[in-house]
Amino acid sequence: MSRSKRKLNKKSKQPFNINRKSLLGILSMTFQEIMDTLLTKSKIKKPKEQEVLELVKRKAKKGNTDSILKIIDNYAYKKTFLMNIGDKKGLLLEEAIKDSNAINVLELGVYLGYSSIRILRSLSTEGKLTSIEANEDFAEIAKQHIEIADLSKQHEIKIGRSNELIPQLDSAYDFVFIDHWKDLYLSDLKLLEASGLLKKGAWIFADNVVLFNLEDYLDYVRTSDQFDSKFTPALREYSSSQPDGVEISIYNS
Ligand code: CA
Repeated sequence: MSRSKRKLNKKSKQPFNINRKSLLGILSMTFQEIMDTLLTKSKIKKPKEQEVLELVKRKAKKGNTDSILKIIDNYAYKKTFLMNIGDKKGLLLEEAIKDSNAINVLELGVYLGYSSIRILRSLSTEGKLTSIEANEDFAEIAKQHIEIADLSKQHEIKIGRSNELIPQLDSAYDFVFIDHWKDLYLSDLKLLEASGLLKKGAWIFADNVVLFNLEDYLDYVRTSDQFDSKFTPALREYSSSQPDGVEISIYNS
């Protein structure tokens, strides 16, 4: 064996060098594992909607709608955007419910039940709200919010696609709030008409008509003989600059 080979061989057998490499390997693996754990944890972090529900459960006063709406609004303003109608357009919705004297209201798109609470608290005691929501998790959160608001007695939530559920509805409505998938606004309005579910004089309140550029919907309600339609400009929910607006159309047929 040559001197250099003997030296290498000798060196490779030095326990310190081997152990140091192993130790570094273990340490680096452990670090990687820690990072993986943290990443996994962040991936399985609770959805924001669940966080909002927990905040409401912990902090809201039972039966106090202001306290519930305030918790949800604060979360959307300070932490992460939530696709509620928001505090400003929410007041337009409440005014419309009161001005229409609506008794039987239909809501398309529930999300966290924020607008449902605004509608329910603006209804008279004989009023009733039927809400349609396609997402089961959101519907469950909304139900709990409405329960905490103590408004469940006047509320019913149906889970499923609006275009499948609308033909199964059996009573006509005098107010419809539309705030679900933007490509369904027009087809669902036509479906409501075709199914005879709009009372004469019914109000159709459509949110986000500017934000989502709902030209086909606006063209329809503004040119149809069946509707008298009016636009109210507003800012997008929780924004101080982004233009949006709501369209209120009254069914004359
Ligand atoms: Ca909306």
